[in-house]
Amino acid sequence: MGMIAKSFSRKGMECGKCGHLAGEASLSFQGHEINGWKCRCGEEYFNPEQAQKILTLNKLKNSKFEVKVGQIRSNLIVRIPKEVEEALGLRKGEEMLLGVLEGRKIELMGK
Ligand SMILES: [Zn+2]
Repeated sequence: MGMIAKSFSRKGMECGKCGHLAGEASLSFQGHEINGWKCRCGEEYFNPEQAQKILTLNKLKNSKFEVKVGQIRSNLIVRIPKEVEEALGLRKGEEMLLGVLEGRKIELMGK
């Protein structure tokens, strides 16, 4: 089943189910590979930071944001909402692909 880890140390974490020390492992969380700990009893504990990121990402999936076209000098700009920036881990200077679709649609893809 698995749960999101609440506290852990570098060495591992004590399993809340059986008390043994769960070792580091690569786990599957909602279709994504993330780090965590797996106990010999089979219980899995997900890295809370990584799991939270996926939960936020899933929450934003297929959502739409109203944005306004602005202008800096001769270029039109669109601001990326903070929550999207954080969920995707976007950084200034990152290169992305901008695609033009039918019906005045634009898509922006991370590389
Ligand atoms: Zn256990």
